[in-house]
Amino acid sequence: MSIHQENPAQRATADQLRRRAGELDGRDALAHCRDHFIGTETPLSYLDGNSLGRPLKRTADDVAAFIREEWGGRLIRGWDERWLHMPQDIGDQAGRAVLGAAPGQTIIADSTTVVLYKLIRAALAAVQDPDRNELVLDTENFPTDRYLVEGIALEEGLTLRWIEPDPAAGATLEQVRQATGPRTAVVLLSQIAYRSGHLADMPGITAAVHDAGALVVWDLCHSAGSVEIGLDGADVDFAAGCTYKYLNGGPGSPAFAYVNARHLPSLNQPIWGWMGRKDAFEMAAGYEPAAGIRGFLSGTPAIFGMLAMQGTLDLIEEASMAAIREKSVALTSFAVEVFDAWLAPLGAQLASPRDPAERGGHITVDHPDFTKATVEALWDGDVIPDFRAPHGIRVGLSPLSTSFDEVLQGMAAIRDRLRG
Ligand SMILES: *Cc1c(COP(=O)(O)O)cnc(C)c1O
Repeated sequence: MSIHQENPAQRATADQLRRRAGELDGRDALAHCRDHFIGTETPLSYLDGNSLGRPLKRTADDVAAFIREEWGGRLIRGWDERWLHMPQDIGDQAGRAVLGAAPGQTIIADSTTVVLYKLIRAALAAVQDPDRNELVLDTENFPTDRYLVEGIALEEGLTLRWIEPDPAAGATLEQVRQATGPRTAVVLLSQIAYRSGHLADMPGITAAVHDAGALVVWDLCHSAGSVEIGLDGADVDFAAGCTYKYLNGGPGSPAFAYVNARHLPSLNQPIWGWMGRKDAFEMAAGYEPAAGIRGFLSGTPAIFGMLAMQGTLDLIEEASMAAIREKSVALTSFAVEVFDAWLAPLGAQLASPRDPAERGGHITVDHPDFTKATVEALWDGDVIPDFRAPHGIRVGLSPLSTSFDEVLQGMAAIRDRLRG
């Protein structure tokens, strides 16, 4: 790599950074976790574990055993024996390991998009006041969140109130205070902004939304498995997120949904399916929701993705989210250090918060010369970040599987593309 083709000053910096990476890897309390993942022994630099997490080695065995013994051996009996309970059992484990949620409030189902639709509609149904006809969200929210809310506003005759955050940050407490009031029904925000990595003040914003008399739905796609989340502690109303990002459930693995126990007795979700009905197998006339979070199911649960995410939930419980967040902060801080040394002098801008307390597990670097083709060329060289229009490269650092050396190798390749 061209790390060896530099002038003496640059070489000194490269040597220093290489030593730093070595030191950081040497004292990484979670370094052993990387060995549990497939592919981490190769020189490939994976900087997109926040889009699709790497698979655990045990997942290959768990899935093979499931096919041979449970699916192949138990056949349809498997539903009664285990599979029907998995949405709640693994939901509870996700609540305990990752979400700061007591049992009975989390379920694994559908996709994040579908689950968010159900949650937003359930939240709207829980707001009884007809004068509250505004849905609040921010322009930096993930596309699916924005489109969903646009569709729901049409269905329900609601008005959208857009917060416009700094694209290099995210929605602030002050902006939420200003956007909410006696007309607000529901607020939808991401805890971590998918582009900038900005970490929102979830407890403060949740309290502000409640002060305004409204309900909040949090999208946790980029925070589940990267930061400590205290849903019960912050008295969050509703939350949802992906399991194929930091939870490594595999492509298209089902989402998780959280409903605060205080809302469950009056829950009214819009997709009435047989799996969410009480006594599903009676197949009786008329829909009556199952009690509690089970009433949030609609159709048959996707079992394979749950098997994969269970391996990561076990590993997270062993490692602890506190240690994972600590490593995540060290990884993004190192990435910023390398950015300052190598990319800023070439005209790149950090489009993410500098304060680690306001940052999740990824950073975005903007440069006018970055295009989709830049990232394609990086991918061809086995350095895998993500492209984010109009000219950003997003560097995602999955704490359980990413090494500091991997970060350095990846950032060196990005620097080399900029040098041309
Ligand atoms: C990845 C992501 C999604 C994806 O939703 P799917 O239904 O799984 O496609 C939604 N919201 C955010 C914030 C995301 O980062």
